[in-house]
Amino acid sequence: MKAKIMTKIAISGFQHETNTFAPGFTTFQQFKDRGGWPGLTRGDMIFEEFKGLNIPISGFFEACKHDIHPIVWAMAEPGGFVAEDAFETIVQDIVKGVKSAAPDALYLDLHGAMVTESFDDAEAEILRRLRTGMGNDFPIVISLDLHANISPALFDLADAVAIYRTYPHVDFAKTGARAAALLERVLTGPVFKAFRQIPFMMPITAQSTHHEPAKSLYAALPDDPLLSADIAMGFPPADIPDCGPAVLAYAETQDLADAEVDKVVRKFIAAEKEFDARLMSAAAAVEKATNLPGPVVIADPQDNPGAGGTGDTTGILRALVDANAQDAILGLLLDPVAAAKAHEAGVGARFSVSLGGRHRQYSEPLECTVEVIAITDGIFRCTGPMFDGNLVDLGKMARLKIEKTDIEVVVNSNKCQNLDQEFFRNVGLEPKEHKIICVKSAVHFMADYQRVTDQILFAVAKGANPCDLSEIPYTRLREGLRY
Ligand SMILES: [Zn+2]
Repeated sequence: MKAKIMTKIAISGFQHETNTFAPGFTTFQQFKDRGGWPGLTRGDMIFEEFKGLNIPISGFFEACKHDIHPIVWAMAEPGGFVAEDAFETIVQDIVKGVKSAAPDALYLDLHGAMVTESFDDAEAEILRRLRTGMGNDFPIVISLDLHANISPALFDLADAVAIYRTYPHVDFAKTGARAAALLERVLTGPVFKAFRQIPFMMPITAQSTHHEPAKSLYAALPDDPLLSADIAMGFPPADIPDCGPAVLAYAETQDLADAEVDKVVRKFIAAEKEFDARLMSAAAAVEKATNLPGPVVIADPQDNPGAGGTGDTTGILRALVDANAQDAILGLLLDPVAAAKAHEAGVGARFSVSLGGRHRQYSEPLECTVEVIAITDGIFRCTGPMFDGNLVDLGKMARLKIEKTDIEVVVNSNKCQNLDQEFFRNVGLEPKEHKIICVKSAVHFMADYQRVTDQILFAVAKGANPCDLSEIPYTRLREGLRY
């Protein structure tokens, strides 16, 4: 009897969500370092680092029964254009690694909204280079973020695509597992596919699957590798022609794929008017929170580091101070200088500080005196539904009480969106014990903080992720795209 030859599957990952309006570039160092996500990881270390985590590549290799060959995985917190050298270094690693492994197929854990100065559609460029090396018949299946801006080119270059179906994204690993099922389909027979872009965009605060209409649109998607359909909601702060939502489907015949895509697109377009950004002014949010029984969460979606926000704006903090808000906590405010000063001064020390506001185009620093209540190294494991078990390194952290107020601010040093209550617990704050909880996040915070309260307000303060899309100075969107 002949020995069964195992199918060899290479796996790799390269994720970035690029806000083309955000200041600065996203550097190779940011991909290399651990932050909210693991740092750049190569080879078999990927099994060790990612085992059991809620990350697409983890879900893929845990579900895939073939011989798995890991190449490299890298991700950086959302921000400005990916620097060319970072892109080239990581892509060349992937292409070389795949070529030398000579696998039967490839799975890629991608985002779908990566932009460099040279490439509007960086993911399509990655696939183009792989196709040059491996040919058009080489099976490539990818998974993408719900915020992917999918171009027709990217869709054409991939044999199949699986997309997160939850926002907050609690199904990272599940999507990796769906990609493994799709790959199995691609390996066993012809798969027909269909793709349509949606003619309008909506801000990310309108995209949550906790709210309508996204909730029903996603709930109706088929969950079967024989007939699979997915929706990407798009990532609006990206001035590229293929910005915005898209729908795709895979089926056993072209007619079935087309029919499924058209069905989802019809529902999506019919729901256009229902997408609601749910925004109110920062002053109104603080006033409303004050009048509600606590706890109340005030989100700062426009300075969400998870959408390219700088994480240091003071708009909401100022609204809290102006209203003399009681029992309010705010985090994370990215301020490595204040964090270092607190570590130097020690617990119990008081000092005057210019808090946050390093990017003056959005806000000014808050001049105040603070007392250091706690300091930590910012390295801990998360417990919320999105990041459960994930080891994060947020850099030096400090819990600071602003003098003459009842407001405490948690500062950190490595940019990360506050999507897990451990971000507060790490410095000794238990969110549910406080009246007003302010988080720099647009939607992801809901995964964990909705366990504490359903009283959630979305406040407007100036930042790099405008949620009123009419404020964004687009120049390169495709003709006819509404927003
Ligand atoms: Zn996303």
